[in-house]
Amino acid sequence: MGEPPILPHDPGCIFCRIVAGLIPCHKLYENDTLICFLDIGPVVPGHTLVVPKSHYHNVFDVPAELLGHLGQFLPAMAKAVTAAVEAPACHILLNNGSEAMQSVLHLHYHIIPRKRGDTFYVPWLPGRLDVDTARDLIVRITKRLEI
Ligand code: 5GP
Ligand code: ZN
Repeated sequence: MGEPPILPHDPGCIFCRIVAGLIPCHKLYENDTLICFLDIGPVVPGHTLVVPKSHYHNVFDVPAELLGHLGQFLPAMAKAVTAAVEAPACHILLNNGSEAMQSVLHLHYHIIPRKRGDTFYVPWLPGRLDVDTARDLIVRITKRLEI
């Protein structure tokens, strides 16, 4: 039998420490690639985190294959979480970078079940897209798109 693969790891990272079993969590599921546990500061009951076992900061540096694995897994956990708290809907949310409210710099998804009249509030104040801005943005974005 070979050695288990060495995963990218940051000993100072709270989620790496949970993955390593150094900090307890309320675990819902784990496999070779990811672990799911209840958020310690739930914004609503059932607030769950889906965390890859490898340490990557966010979607800007995570390998596409790992992101694919997470994406394939998310619907099953989102369905289980929302059903468990009898919610009809949920956010599947990833804060990507400190300025985008990412506080733990180890990529993770939030599953946040939603019910009408619940207490979770996201301020979302739409502006208006004007034609010149849209045309300018299309040029700027498409010339940078590396696919
Ligand atoms: P972020 O702001 O980075 O998107 O979300 C980080 C989340 O991790 C927060 O919702 C926070 O409550 C949660 N969190 C931080 N430390 C711990 C911990 O030690 N255990 C658990 N279960 N959740 C944590
Ligand atoms: Zn980490």
